[in-house]
Amino acid sequence: MNDILPEISATWRYLETTVQEIVQSYGYSEIRLPLLEHTDLFKRSIGEVTDIVEKEMYTFLDRNGESLTLRPEATAGMVRAGMTNGLFHNQKQKLWTSGPMFRYEKPQQGRYRQFHQFDVEAVGYDGPDVDAELITMSARMWQRLGISKIALQINSLGTPNGRRNYREALVKYFSGVKNALDEDSIRRLEQNPLRILDSKNPDMRSIIEAAPIMLDYLDEESAHHFDGLKALLDAAGVSYTVNPRLVRGLDYYSRTVFEWVTDALGSQGAVCSGGRYDGLVEKLGGRATPAVGWAMGIERFVALYGACGGESPTSDVDVYVAALGDGTLERAFALAEELRNSIKGIQVELNLGSGSFKSQMKRADKSGARYALILGEQELADGCVGVKPMRSADDQVSVALDELVATLARKLS
Ligand code: ATP
Ligand code: MG
Repeated sequence: MNDILPEISATWRYLETTVQEIVQSYGYSEIRLPLLEHTDLFKRSIGEVTDIVEKEMYTFLDRNGESLTLRPEATAGMVRAGMTNGLFHNQKQKLWTSGPMFRYEKPQQGRYRQFHQFDVEAVGYDGPDVDAELITMSARMWQRLGISKIALQINSLGTPNGRRNYREALVKYFSGVKNALDEDSIRRLEQNPLRILDSKNPDMRSIIEAAPIMLDYLDEESAHHFDGLKALLDAAGVSYTVNPRLVRGLDYYSRTVFEWVTDALGSQGAVCSGGRYDGLVEKLGGRATPAVGWAMGIERFVALYGACGGESPTSDVDVYVAALGDGTLERAFALAEELRNSIKGIQVELNLGSGSFKSQMKRADKSGARYALILGEQELADGCVGVKPMRSADDQVSVALDELVATLARKLS
């Protein structure tokens, strides 16, 4: 769990704001969700035989003996919120949310126990058009931010019905190589053979590579949906590769799944992942409602932005107000407030804790301010203020107090 320090928080804020602007421009509205949900919600939605539910959840009993869990992802909570608030009743919803998620994982570069996701979900839409739009929207983020080292993989998981045949084929295949399976996979062979494909164990890789692929078992409608998605991505100029091994770590997906991956961040390459989960609302007790969404890991997003040469936005102080001598602090204090009132967006830092001229100028320099405003006893008596450029060799000038706002507004524009 990390502290996000001031040196990086401006980059976080900038990237989050940019993503918010983009998703809002596609008509998505914000929803804010609790960090805690009943444990059962995650067990039922994510699936009992998944890494998250088996070994990654922060679960505890509250004072009332109820089992609660810190959310490991946002989709389950979003669906729960939509159902309890009637948002899906004869309505479609396009929603986004963001915030911390919690998974008890082995911490390493790009993998943390408290991490952050930006999450987008469209509920009530069943066509490939919305899948394509969600993916295109994410492509727009990379483009807007100059992120190039990223590639899109897509796959289709078909429908739960269609998956039955595939499941049989998988069980047959993996049973034939049972001796080579690791412990997790042997357990999953009985309970949830598809999960074997998501194994992170490198020793399992070659066995998984040779396994039957879902795309060969797609039902006709799912194949049609997948073709529709590809055609729309082609039309939008979003390039992709079909990765028939892409299964995603949660149980609730159907049809479209996709992942934006990078090789610029070492082994934690998944930056933004998502897919369609047509069965989830019904599974959680609602009316059958199609849905699709994605989640982006913000830590990996921030790291990738840096790896692609993205700059941290600077938010430098515009003016530093120095006060020297008797009675000057009150005037300087009022002046700083007046500037904040009069010039929109101006960043004014008032010298706090008095100090000599030299030390106040040192602080002004350190603040990054473009101008220092110097208010001494003489200036106070004359009704003016010294305006000292801090980032150029220009001379200090004296400006009448009643002209200061206009002068500074001009200089800063
Ligand atoms: P991974 O394969 O890396 O474990 P995942 O499939 O578990 O990822 P999702 O549940 O799809 O991940 O979450 C969406 C995104 O959240 C991921 O693409 C990734 O960017 C990010 N993410 C997931 N787990 C973590 C974590 N522990 N620390 C940081 N980011 C994470
Ligand atoms: Mg994971």
